[in-house]
Amino acid sequence: MDGAYGEGGGQILRMSLALSALTGAPVHLRNIRVKRSPPGLRAQHRTAVEAMTRLSDASVKGLELGSTELEFTPRQLKGGRLALDTGTAGSTTLVLQSLLPAMAFSEKRTEVQITGGTNNPLAPPIDYVQRVLAPSLAKMGLQVKIDLVRRGFYPRGGGVVRAALDPVETVQPIQLTRFEELTCVSGIAYSSRLPKHIVPRMVRRAREILRLADLEADDIDMEVADQGSPRCALSPGCGILLTGTIIPEGVLGADSLGELGKSAERVGEEVAEGLLRLIGQKAPVDTYLGDQLIIYMALADGRSTIRVGGLTPHMESCIYVCERFFRRIFTLTTERGGPATITCEGTGFSVEERGSRRSRPP
Ligand code: AMP
Repeated sequence: MDGAYGEGGGQILRMSLALSALTGAPVHLRNIRVKRSPPGLRAQHRTAVEAMTRLSDASVKGLELGSTELEFTPRQLKGGRLALDTGTAGSTTLVLQSLLPAMAFSEKRTEVQITGGTNNPLAPPIDYVQRVLAPSLAKMGLQVKIDLVRRGFYPRGGGVVRAALDPVETVQPIQLTRFEELTCVSGIAYSSRLPKHIVPRMVRRAREILRLADLEADDIDMEVADQGSPRCALSPGCGILLTGTIIPEGVLGADSLGELGKSAERVGEEVAEGLLRLIGQKAPVDTYLGDQLIIYMALADGRSTIRVGGLTPHMESCIYVCERFFRRIFTLTTERGGPATITCEGTGFSVEERGSRRSRPP
């Protein structure tokens, strides 16, 4: 597997490990994260490899930090309980991204606890996993339970996430193509170890921007974790996620994270502008969810179709990995102005097929 394909980041590694564990086909990755600086495995990726190694009882070569080459040979997907720690503020949700598809076909229920960052730049915020990814997976028959015990922010991390999933026989295909109307905007704004006024200020500004576009955010949860609360993060942090619910089906998610020197109002503006941009694309699947659903579409029993705001290198990487493991199963249709439709003839993967498949070039 060529890690330099498409976005050339961690996505190829995560999807390769998941599909290797699922199919039983060993994988040899080269050029891991060569388009990133520094290249190779970082702590978070190493945790993902360790997690997949434990979940699938695999043997692995090339696991040292900075490694750009890895051999992963899975044996058995047992499920059960796993506790993992990224050691830093490494993203817990990206570790989950690798684990979840394999958890769906483990021999028994898997319950995993991951310690690390829960709200990191360049990774799905845990709130996105709970409010956008999980409901979409539920439509495909995967009832993922996600509990956020404590948030973790850069640099100290220390956040705790628990995820549980019962195995399924097959994954159901998904159809998310129509955007008729936006029914409601809701979300969550959070802070930890920061003054109490931050959360209401982010929310107020986000609401003001939405109102300029005639949108009301009905229901934004506000979460303030002070020192002394068991939910208080080790490092300070704040952010906001807004979701837009689409008729007939679909949830769009936009988020913004606070950082030193960025005002609470700016965080609120960013998230509202982000959501308005997504709504303007008139597609029921945002580009992040687009790449995150690809692997499930490949596994599903039947044809899935999603319409996304645009194609991204992350989607291309996911499709590349899936087609290396299976065969050509994806068709892409792009429209002028950006939106695209991704269709997949799902493989109808089931546990009986473990070990009977071998990777082959597309
Ligand atoms: P990589 O860049 O290869 O480490 O992959 C990043 C992953 O995180 C992709 O699956 C992205 O869709 C996802 N991601 C990054 N930023 C966000 C965000 N703000 N909201 C949701 N998902 C995100």
